[in-house]
Amino acid sequence: MTQDHNRNVVRIFDTTLRDGEQSPGATMNVEEKLLIARQLEKLRVDVIEAGFAASSQGDFDSVARVAEAVSTPVVLSLARTREPDIQRALKAVEKARHPGIHIFIATSDIHLKRKLMMSRQEVVDAASWAVAFAKKHVDHIEFSAEDASRSDRDYLVQVFAEVIKAGATVLNVPDTTGYAVPEEFGALFRYLIATTPGGDRVTWSAHCHNDLGMAVANSLTAARNGARQIECTINGIGERAGNASMEEIVMAIHTRHDFFDLRTHVVTEQIYPASRLLAQVTGLTVPANKPIVGDNAFAHEAGIHQDGVLKDVLNYEIMRPASVGISSNKLVLGKHSGRHAFAERLKQLGVDLYEVDMNKAFERFKALADRKKSVYDEDLIAIVTEEAVRFPDQFELLDLRVTSSNRTAPHAAVRLRVGDVEREDEADGDGMVDACYKAISKITGITPKLERYAVKAITGGTDALGEVSCLINEDGITAGGQGAHTDIIQASALAFLNALNKLQYRRTHYRQVHEEGP
Ligand code: MN
Repeated sequence: MTQDHNRNVVRIFDTTLRDGEQSPGATMNVEEKLLIARQLEKLRVDVIEAGFAASSQGDFDSVARVAEAVSTPVVLSLARTREPDIQRALKAVEKARHPGIHIFIATSDIHLKRKLMMSRQEVVDAASWAVAFAKKHVDHIEFSAEDASRSDRDYLVQVFAEVIKAGATVLNVPDTTGYAVPEEFGALFRYLIATTPGGDRVTWSAHCHNDLGMAVANSLTAARNGARQIECTINGIGERAGNASMEEIVMAIHTRHDFFDLRTHVVTEQIYPASRLLAQVTGLTVPANKPIVGDNAFAHEAGIHQDGVLKDVLNYEIMRPASVGISSNKLVLGKHSGRHAFAERLKQLGVDLYEVDMNKAFERFKALADRKKSVYDEDLIAIVTEEAVRFPDQFELLDLRVTSSNRTAPHAAVRLRVGDVEREDEADGDGMVDACYKAISKITGITPKLERYAVKAITGGTDALGEVSCLINEDGITAGGQGAHTDIIQASALAFLNALNKLQYRRTHYRQVHEEGP
């Protein structure tokens, strides 16, 4: 694909599964990555960066499974400029309908001197060798000049010219450290595109980080100056302060078409479901004031605004909630809803029914409907996600009893399945959640530091499904967990166990390569 064709289309390159997964606590297992990948396909992103195949067996497996699971997007794996990395990446995407590879090496003097210990010429040679080597096996080759925004412009031109000669089809200009400013970053694109020999034959790509809160602005300015691919993540998750947020980029291009005169292939109505799914899977909740997908993104509080919106939504709304997939008609099902209505609603929500154990999901729905009068779309998504991502867990909650009064210490008695055996124990605590976590720690033998704990009501009302997310840390390995239940103590236990399961998973699949990528 070259830029001549579809001149005004900005391709969306999603790196939720690679850069996004590098967020503290965002580690996902293979099943979870598949769920996200399928949602990305529904969103119609153009490219999915599925992982860094050479970094661990877990990453390799994830890339390979994603490559097989989706058919419209290009699926690629990250690789350094080394033969074993490239071989692993190529092997992992082998079964993709549209395979690709993403090769990177740093180009800033600071990285050359202090990280790679290589000369400028050695980096040029490594980059063009790697691209030429990969080109023998795959056509779609993206090359990233890591830390490009802090690299010498003319040296960048030299590196890019060489990799174009070697066969690169996409050139990525990452603001790896989140250092760039929009005007400057836009000017860099203009310069590189105009100056690099062969630059008119390739697609230019922007990859921005949000350390100074400018990732989206930098990406959009790059597009104004000729970039036709933007790299981003759902909910803006990613290294440190995160990557550019997919939903903000897509909706800015969409809403301000008059200004940008650009478009994307993204099905915007799938944005909110994607955001919810990712939050559910990673336990990284979305702040209420997050643009597009936060709870308050479309809430009008001031009386004068409410009055204005009631007269005509256009008075204060630049986007319709429905355009990003937030349904206005939220009340859907209740305890008298049958299996057919349940399945039908899931289908409307875009859930792949074959992915879900319908018997279990329907059982959970009935149990929820018994406790709670109205079951909302968000509740259904929570149930289905939990069922779908359930993988062979090491720990499973079988029974939990807590007691609390104003005269005695809160007390919890917990029974768990640990592998194939059942174990139980009890503990006192400062509060019921604390007692419950202490009892679980006694049984599992794991006492991680609880770094974050948050409760959120998924929908309104005192019978709402409570969603608990927590982040735990043991020996520097972090894991996030999520649990949903109408009883927040139960939800807390589920979240903690989910995090412990991920911690165990992470221990066995921990990345052996600690290089971060562009
Ligand atoms: Mn990055």
